Amino acid sequence: MIRVSQVKVEVTKDNFEALKEKTVAKLGIRYKTLKDLMIVKKSIDARDKNNVMFTYEVNVTVDNEDRLIKKLKSKDVSKVNEEVYEIPEHGDEILNKRPIVIGSGPCGLFCALTLAEAGFKPIVFERGERVEDRINTVEMFWKHGTLNTNSNVCFGEGGAGTFSDGKLNTLVSDKSGRIKKVFDTFIESGAPVEIAYENKPHVGTDILRDVIINIRNRIIKLGGEINYYSCLTGVNIVDNKIKSIVINKTKKIDCDVLVLALGHSARDTIKMLYDKGIDMESKPFAIGVRVQHPQKMIDENQYGKYSEVLGHASYKLTHQAKNGRGVYTFCMCPGGYVVDSSCEEGHLIINGMSYNKRDSENANSAVVVTVNKEDLGDNPLDGLEFQRRLEALAYRKGNGKIPVQLWKDYKDNKESKEFKTINPVFKGKYSFANLNEIFPYYINESLKEGIEEFNKKIKGFANDDAILAGVESRTSSAVRMIRNNNFVSNVSGIYPSGEGAGYAGGIVTSAIDGTKTAEYIIKKYNNEFLS
Ligand SMILES: Cc1cc2nc3c(=O)[nH]c(=O)nc-3n(C[C@H](O)[C@H](O)[C@H](O)COP(=O)(O)OP(=O)(O)OC[C@H]3O[C@@H](n4cnc5c(N)ncnc54)[C@H](O)[C@@H]3O)c2cc1C
Repeated sequence: MIRVSQVKVEVTKDNFEALKEKTVAKLGIRYKTLKDLMIVKKSIDARDKNNVMFTYEVNVTVDNEDRLIKKLKSKDVSKVNEEVYEIPEHGDEILNKRPIVIGSGPCGLFCALTLAEAGFKPIVFERGERVEDRINTVEMFWKHGTLNTNSNVCFGEGGAGTFSDGKLNTLVSDKSGRIKKVFDTFIESGAPVEIAYENKPHVGTDILRDVIINIRNRIIKLGGEINYYSCLTGVNIVDNKIKSIVINKTKKIDCDVLVLALGHSARDTIKMLYDKGIDMESKPFAIGVRVQHPQKMIDENQYGKYSEVLGHASYKLTHQAKNGRGVYTFCMCPGGYVVDSSCEEGHLIINGMSYNKRDSENANSAVVVTVNKEDLGDNPLDGLEFQRRLEALAYRKGNGKIPVQLWKDYKDNKESKEFKTINPVFKGKYSFANLNEIFPYYINESLKEGIEEFNKKIKGFANDDAILAGVESRTSSAVRMIRNNNFVSNVSGIYPSGEGAGYAGGIVTSAIDGTKTAEYIIKKYNNEFLS
């Protein structure tokens, strides 16, 4: 099989036949000698707005492949080396008790799945509800404002990304085939096949929910167990080794291997673990607002005259502010909703979500400013406290609702009175407030400079009527749980993993970290003695 990259097809003439013809032309071979063609990657090249093209990478089977590669001597044509994922051989150390995984976000689910596939029968404890029930709880919260602190947009089966755009972007390069394993599992569980090759794959919250149910069923079928309404509230450590855990303050369970796939919103659990002596350090993060623009405006900016054909454009913008801080857009949701993602009483946070069709009238993205270790004190949990303070202020300023402000009024430091040319698209209740009063001066200053700067790249980004909302505080973990090269913390048997432990950011990287964590457990232990 040969991999051919940089095959260009005009967006208005895009179909499989056209792709085959372009590939054949690029290889300089006759059409009938092409035996098979499979798309590996598809992206949009919109650098020239008058000539926007699809760029493909494909695998093809043709006659005399080695001779053809030699003859062409092109960096765009090479032999295919397929990455095949393999679960490692298990180790020798006897494991008498089933491994325990805390949390069923992407990290916990993929850790449990890999353990189950290797015959380790994991037991998962999840503080929130199963996804079917969680959907109702979240809908009720958005409608009436009654928060369930264990089951919400951040907590519950599927984890933080369940009510999301389901973007499956990753910048990680991974020759071990783990990324392919994650994508294959998503597709086998109901995600669209296009995610395997699209440059910016996206599932949407509606489809993601079914994917989660199917992954859960797979874990259970392989001998795993998932317990809901089961919050890890304590750990018993003896001679620097995990001995048992406590669920819901009452149930003690003996334990030799404990995976912490908590996500970064479980501040109560993170604090408990810190108090119990788990080594942690603070890490930089970013905080800011979420901005809404008409999706049509973004499409026209990004795709010019092709916007009708391509639609749903996204963007990624960065700027170095004069005060030295990075300002950047994050988690852009085309045709999405700004959602109230609160999980703690008296604290308000927001995030972005889209359905698979991405058909709301607005685009939204977080615009965030970096907060460095130097902005915080010496305590590893200072970053969490910093976020909490701002979230509490957001709650107060919005009277418990999402605080919102038009861009012009934010610049002019005054509360907005009404929406103007852009209709608000929210999930959850909202209320006008002055966002300047939530953030420290350096964040307001950086946001204002950044948004003006982004207007030079996307005309209309600094539209007076653009709708800002706060506070976008959960972009990444503010703390890292320290682990060694075998993924073990300073306490033997405890494996911190995923986003909450500070080793991932996003659905795919969290799933990969969970998979890797499972591999280290499999390589160390022998599962033959599991009861
Ligand atoms: C609204 C929203 C939209 C997002 N959109 C995207 C996107 O489009 N693409 C993307 O890549 N990323 C997105 N993200 C980020 C992404 O969701 C996270 O990076 C990812 O979910 C982290 O995975 P995780 O498994 O490490 O942690 P989480 O997904 O946070 O999962 C942690 C799990 O642990 C459980 N838990 C916590 N504490 C305990 C305890 N004490 N006992 C038992 N269980 C516990 C929680 O209930 C939760 O289910 C979004 C996040 C949000 C909130």
